Amino acid sequence: MGKRANNDNRITGARLIKDALGWHIAFRVQTLHARPEPHQGAEVGIDAGVNLPLALSDGNHFDHGRPSRLANGTADRDKWLKSEEKVKLLRLEQRAAHRKSFRKPLERTSNRLRKTYDQIKQLRATATRRAVDWQHKATAEIAGQYGTVVVEQLNITNMVTSARGTIENPGKNVAQKAGLNRSISQEAWGRTVTMLTYKLVQRGGALHKVSARNTSLRCSACGIITPGSRKDQATFECENADCGWSGNADHNAARNVLQLYRMGHVLIPAAGRAVARRTRGVKPAAAR
Ligand SMILES: [Zn+2]
Repeated sequence: MGKRANNDNRITGARLIKDALGWHIAFRVQTLHARPEPHQGAEVGIDAGVNLPLALSDGNHFDHGRPSRLANGTADRDKWLKSEEKVKLLRLEQRAAHRKSFRKPLERTSNRLRKTYDQIKQLRATATRRAVDWQHKATAEIAGQYGTVVVEQLNITNMVTSARGTIENPGKNVAQKAGLNRSISQEAWGRTVTMLTYKLVQRGGALHKVSARNTSLRCSACGIITPGSRKDQATFECENADCGWSGNADHNAARNVLQLYRMGHVLIPAAGRAVARRTRGVKPAAAR
């Protein structure tokens, strides 16, 4: 640290966090950087793919080599666990369900059941750490290569309403479980966007958001939505007789995302909650 360290590089906050793996302290720091030169990298659209974790509009993709879906087509929330860890997790979940079945109404959670919950949480925390590590590497590579990155706006409303399940109460029906899985993958996508945003700014680039509406249904070659073009999760074959473009469904969506940006349809975040503020001692102009 040089002479400027006193003022420009400083800790602006600290937070103690307890998660399943133990206590952590997180410092919020403010550092002074030289303004980066404008990024020379190309524009790219990115889709949070169903089959490809990050599908890029230019045909590239970033994959962690872990299938995101189970054999029955639902998202695999435990894809970051090794197979023996998955076996262990399943055993713990069965044990928890079994112990819970003996619990009488209003009876407090037994220490044994609590311990099982803790073990489940530890495995989940391990999985999250691995996911975050991969996301840091992938987003750093993208932010180094591309100067303008366009992504879809995350649908927060869906995320909140679908996140009803918890580890203790995963939800009884398939729809609730699917909702929990979806909210986990959306949480991961939100983290990817956050990482991309600051990593791009550090390198003189920028991130833009566009509306996710119809990006997976529209053909990125002819721009028309022709019913039946989305063959399955992975395949897009344009049914427009004059077009017939075909390709990976996630790449198609990423191309649409970039196209929306090029057409100028960028989402600008609205101001947050409207808060009426009044400086102490100064009456608002209207009341004077
Ligand atoms: Zn087409």
